[in-house]
Formats: sequence, C-alpha cells, structure tokens
Amino acid sequence: MSNREEISHIVIVGGGTAGWMTAAALAHFWRRHPGRISLVESSEIGTVGVGEATLPTIRDFNSGIGIDELDFLRKTQATFKLGIEFEDWNQLGGKFFHPFAPYGAKVNGAPFHHAWLRARELGDSSSLREYSLPAVMAAHDRFAQPVRQPAAAFANFAYAYHFDAGLYARYLREYSLARGVRRFDRRIVDVGLRGTDGYIDSLVLDDGERLKGDLFIDCSGFRGLLIEGALKTGYEDWTQWLPCDRAVAMPCESNGIPTPYTLASAREAGWQWRIPLQHRMGNGYVYCSRHISDDEAVASLQARLSGAPLAEPNLLRFTTGRRKLFWNRNCVALGLAGGFIEPLESTSIALVQSGIAKLLTFFPDQGFEAVDVAEANRLMNEEYERIRDFIILHYKGTRREDTALWRESHRMAIPETLQHKIDLFASRGHVVEYAGESFGEASWVTMYSGFGILPGRHDPRVDDTEDALLTRQLAQLRDTIRSAAMAAMPHAAYIARHCAASIN
Ligand SMILES: Cc1cc2nc3c(=O)[nH]c(=O)nc-3n(C[C@H](O)[C@H](O)[C@H](O)COP(=O)(O)OP(=O)(O)OC[C@H]3O[C@@H](n4cnc5c(N)ncnc54)[C@H](O)[C@@H]3O)c2cc1C
Repeated sequence: MSNREEISHIVIVGGGTAGWMTAAALAHFWRRHPGRISLVESSEIGTVGVGEATLPTIRDFNSGIGIDELDFLRKTQATFKLGIEFEDWNQLGGKFFHPFAPYGAKVNGAPFHHAWLRARELGDSSSLREYSLPAVMAAHDRFAQPVRQPAAAFANFAYAYHFDAGLYARYLREYSLARGVRRFDRRIVDVGLRGTDGYIDSLVLDDGERLKGDLFIDCSGFRGLLIEGALKTGYEDWTQWLPCDRAVAMPCESNGIPTPYTLASAREAGWQWRIPLQHRMGNGYVYCSRHISDDEAVASLQARLSGAPLAEPNLLRFTTGRRKLFWNRNCVALGLAGGFIEPLESTSIALVQSGIAKLLTFFPDQGFEAVDVAEANRLMNEEYERIRDFIILHYKGTRREDTALWRESHRMAIPETLQHKIDLFASRGHVVEYAGESFGEASWVTMYSGFGILPGRHDPRVDDTEDALLTRQLAQLRDTIRSAAMAAMPHAAYIARHCAASIN
C-alpha cells in the first residue's frame, strides 16, 4: 500500500546538461505543486560539457517546456543537424549518410528500400542517399525546415541541433532559476542514508549544511555520487562490445561554413567527430586505450583539425555501460551518472530526456511503489540496450582490416538481439524493431546498406510494378528530391538570416 504523502522536496545533484535539463523540466511540469526543487553543483568540480550534437527529440524537450526555438538557437551558438556523415567506416574511402528521415515512400505497401534493392537488381546504380531530402540537402550544405503537412512522404523529415553544451546548461539554468529552482554552488562531501531502509536522507555540503530531501536526482556525472557512491547500485560493463574507453576533445576555429551535419570519421583506433557550431568547430577523438596511447590520440586529432586550436586537449575516460538500476530507492540517476554509450549517434542527451520522461510518468509519492520503480527501470534498460545494439552494429559491420581495432570489431561475438536483426535483414531485407527502439527502420537500413549488408531477396510486393516503370518512378523521385534540396538555402545563410548568435 502506497504512503500517499507527497514528495515535498526534490534535490538534484549536478549542474551539467543533465542536471539543468532535469531542473527545467521539473520546474515546468511540477509548477502547480507546492514542493521545492533544489540543485547542488560545484563550479570547483565543473562539468563534462562536450555533448554538442543531438537527436531530433531535443526539439520536443525544448518546445515541451515552452522554449522559443530561435531564441535558444541564438543563445547557444547552435547550428542545424540533418544527420551524420560516416566516413571510412565500412572501408577506407567509403561514405554514407544517416538522416533523421525515411527514404522515399512505400511501394505497393512494401518499405521503400525493397524498391531500391529491386532497382539495383535491374542495373540501377543510385545510392539510398539520393532518396532522402535531408541527406541530399546535407550533401550540398543546405537547410530548410520540413513542410508541416507534406504532400510527399520524402518532405517529412526531422532535424536536430549542434550547440554549445555549456551555453545550453546556462540557458536552462536561467530558465529554472526564474521558475523558483534554488541553486547551491557547493561541494557535497557526504551522503546521509536513513537507517531504516537505506534511502537517501540528506546531503552534507562542504560548509557543514545538511540538505534534506524526499527524492534525489543524481546528475553528478561519471562518478555517480549518489547512485553508486552512496547506494552501490552496480554497473553493467559493455566494453566487450564497445571497446573505446577514452576521448580527447579539442575545439578549433570555425571555417565559417558550418555543415548541417555531424561528421564521424573512423580512425586507426576509434573515430573522430567534427561538430560545427556558429563560433567554433567541436572536435574529438573517441578511442580504445588498448590500441593507442593518449599522446598518440592527441597528436592524431591535432593533425586533423580544420582550423587553429582554441583550447588545450580535454582528456576523458569512461566505461561504456549503464547502471544496473537507473532508479534505486529514492534516487534516479540521469546523464553520465546513469550510464554512457559513446557519442557516435548523439544519444546521451536524448537518454537524459527519456529518463526525465520516465520520472514524470512514474512520478512517486513517498511510498515509492516498487512496481512503478521496476517498470521505469525495465523501460530505461530496454532503451539503453536497443541503443547499445545499434552502436555495436557500427563496429561489427566494418570490413576494415587495416588496424587491430577494426579486425577485432568485425570478428567479435555480438548480443543475440543484434545478431537476430542482422540475420533477418541479410535474409529478406526485413528490419526487426523491438520495443524501446530509439532508431527506426530507416536508421537501421542506413547502417545495413552503409556496411554492405544487403539481403539476398526483396519484398515480392515491389514486383507488382513493371521493371521500366519502377526505374522511371525512382528516377523521377531522385529528380524531385534533388530539385527540392537545391531550392533550400545554404545552411550558413539560413542561420545568418534566422538565428545568428547573440553575443553572450
Ligand atoms: C567524449 C564525450 C562526448 C560527448 N558527446 C555528446 C554528444 O555529442 N551528444 C550528446 O548528447 N551527449 C554527448 N556526451 C554526453 C554529454 O556530455 C553528457 O551526457 C551530458 O553533458 C550530461 O552530462 P552530465 O550532466 O551527466 O554530467 P557532467 O557534465 O559531468 O556534470 C556533473 C555535475 O555534477 C557536479 N558534481 C559532481 N560531484 C559533485 C560534488 N561532490 N558536489 C557538488 N557537485 C558535484 C559537477 O559540478 C557538475 O555540475 C558526450 C560525452 C563525452 C564523454
């Protein structure tokens, strides 16, 4: 039986992206509640602050709490992101693009990629990319907003942002403080647990003040001060499948032409990101420390910067995986405190958002019903595992043999859930979608085709269209998409007209 006493004080630990996203969301959705929200952060410790690329769900988060898109873009030095360009992943010199959009439109009820596969059998050499409006816009550094009620399926695409994570946290901080969130810039030196049930009772701050609360949100970063430090929740380590365990980040000067996409280039012992912001270029090398030293990784990144460096290299260490429970007793872990999957598909901030959504859906009273908490954990774990499998495919799919990391990746054993997906696609082009997927059919098709995993047969429904007609329809679709893409503005001009950064 639940203890119906309501939560009266929520304490958030951490003022990175995760902490301030949580504070802002609670300040908005809990606004009619008489309870208090406090956030403790330590400017002495600082934040990770390198998360700069996002997924389209961030737009729902921002609009859900009433943030004006153009104001946010101006204040975070943001650019638009239509997807990710993958370079050198399948083979050296190979490229493919992952848009946030479906390809083409269904043909006789079959997913579009079957029509594309059949056209290939008929000798058509077009790439899948040519059937995606955002992917073609990206190839020409152009950007347009999607049409609200598109007449054609291809015009129905999504987009995300690249932004300065520090500025985004600051933006949300102002938003939260204006809505009554109390901020403590103090170091937490101890965590007090209740003797009766081991729930968190209070935080001890460095000046001796004791901050009591009912619900604690751990956004303390990799250290997981509450979820691990105090509650010893345990961590599930996924390094066997995702061996990269370090990163070096280093921004450089912008070349003034921001691409509307993230560039992810496979390297000798990992991969490099390039994320264009309005005022600088974000760069980083995610690598496996078994295969390259920190010094070599820094040198490799420095050698490939597209402009003069703007900061010293920022070295980060991590273990890929997730907390065994994201919600334990009266503590919910969000952001890096909850787990980390390398930023290859920009999933961390999206996972913060989805954790907040679960917290709101299963918002507790002081009884912390076990069945609610268990369901929130089940859903969160499911989501993490689906993303994990998607990222593993980026390694497993490679055909590179030039360095040890890629040879090992290609040969590694993978989770059965992923093997089943690959087998089904290789057999008949069918995309298996489990519950809790963050990436839909088009994303999986992008990866399979990008890595040359192509099925032995296509959906017979596409055979209902006569050969010549099918190839003609595809050619028309490519032309229409290309014309629409070329009608869009250059990305840089779009930003200059609508959302050029205001001086911060
Ligand atoms: C290399 C790398 C690249 C990334 N790229 C992306 C990306 O492109 N897209 C994306 O979505 N995500 C990315 N991420 C993830 C993203 O950076 C994080 O998910 C996001 O910034 C959230 O971080 P956080 O708030 O959980 O932790 P942090 O930024 O580490 O914040 C932790 C907070 O806890 C506070 N704190 C800790 N201990 C104490 C204490 N004792 N007392 C008081 N306060 C304390 C700190 O002061 C800080 O405010 C990346 C991460 C890494 C490592």
